[in-house]
Amino acid sequence: MNIHEYQAKRLLKEYGAPVSEGRAVLAANEAEAAAKELPGPLYVVKAQIHAGGRGKGKFQEERAGEGGGVRLAKSPEEAASFAKQMLGSTLVTKQTGPAGKQVNRIYIENGSDIETELYLSALVDRGMGRIAFIASTEGGMNIEEVAEETPEKIVTVEVDPATGCMPHHARRIAQALGLKGAAAKQCGKLIPTLYKAFVEKDMSLLEINPLIVTKSGNLLVLDAKVGFDPNALFRHENILEMRDRTEEDPMEVKASEFDLSYVKLDGDIGCMVNGAGLAMSTMDIIKHYGAEPANFLDVGGGATKEKVTEAFKIITSDPGVKGILVNIFGGIMRCDVIAEGVIAAVKEVGLDVPLVVRLEGTNVEKGKEILSTSGLKITPADDLEDAAQKVVAAVKG
Ligand code: GDP
Ligand code: MG
Repeated sequence: MNIHEYQAKRLLKEYGAPVSEGRAVLAANEAEAAAKELPGPLYVVKAQIHAGGRGKGKFQEERAGEGGGVRLAKSPEEAASFAKQMLGSTLVTKQTGPAGKQVNRIYIENGSDIETELYLSALVDRGMGRIAFIASTEGGMNIEEVAEETPEKIVTVEVDPATGCMPHHARRIAQALGLKGAAAKQCGKLIPTLYKAFVEKDMSLLEINPLIVTKSGNLLVLDAKVGFDPNALFRHENILEMRDRTEEDPMEVKASEFDLSYVKLDGDIGCMVNGAGLAMSTMDIIKHYGAEPANFLDVGGGATKEKVTEAFKIITSDPGVKGILVNIFGGIMRCDVIAEGVIAAVKEVGLDVPLVVRLEGTNVEKGKEILSTSGLKITPADDLEDAAQKVVAAVKG
């Protein structure tokens, strides 16, 4: 789960990280008063969407005026007029995809004089099984490009969970960032602060791009992107409150309400499968036979008829789906329950695309019988290979 920049900064500030003063606004008429509460004389008006690259982004609407999703204003009045232009407009960045994202919140921050822009992040390095800091002097720009073209400019510092964050970690990072004097000293404080926040809040990613050295020689968190481990959210009620569902895929939100693991993809074959491993191999075999899956969907081990119905409805509501493959291995899950769920869903929402069903395991005969006597146009399949070939053939015509 991700949060907005202003929320991430508020959280980091609570831990003692250096962050500028700012105000989040939802309506244009609040913007001027909000800006006037800041010391000035420079104000930064920042579109709050769950995507980076806002500064270099472009708005679709003319009413949004010149410039991207991060603009510098010289007065509270100018800040308010930028906020008004951005609110309700659609911002397209490298990370939003061509459809862009509507801007519903604005963050107005006190402007900073930048000496240098640096890159600093912390993440869970799954290969090492440790939290690692990534530091680079090449901040403010696309870190993926830096990694590709000049990987020597990126330094990774892992933290052993047995010792936790130690002064030598911070010293190595300060050195990698080329920090001297006061800024280096502040880095010595910042790194353990970030590590503490990362661990205590069960973050999966904490990215500060850029971390800056100001003209007066101080470190400052200028941008912040924070993601949390969804499996740990149950113990962080105050983080869940920051969730902005308008930023999430509506179908993924619906799926999470029914405890289904669903990820939307770009292909045209909708998949309903039980078990993550079987879902993966189903996607693989669809690709093997020359088509692309429209989603990953694991209905889980002990799904009810209602859950299966909802899963089916989510798949059919995706206009990209040109065919559906149901692939179930009934263990704890019974095949007749799946069959009933599919039929209930089709009765409710109809079925305009070919449906191939492969059932195996507990109550398989009963399940097959329910489907074959349902009067629905279903193509039965014997095994995974047969099922994949049939659904690919049906979609490709
Ligand atoms: P992103 O484009 O979504 O990553 O948004 P950022 O918050 O990283 O801002 C993009 C760029 O705007 C930064 O790299 C800075 O160059 C610039 N910027 C942001 N805040 C300030 C500020 O307070 N003062 C100045 N001079 N530039 C800023
Ligand atoms: Mg940034």
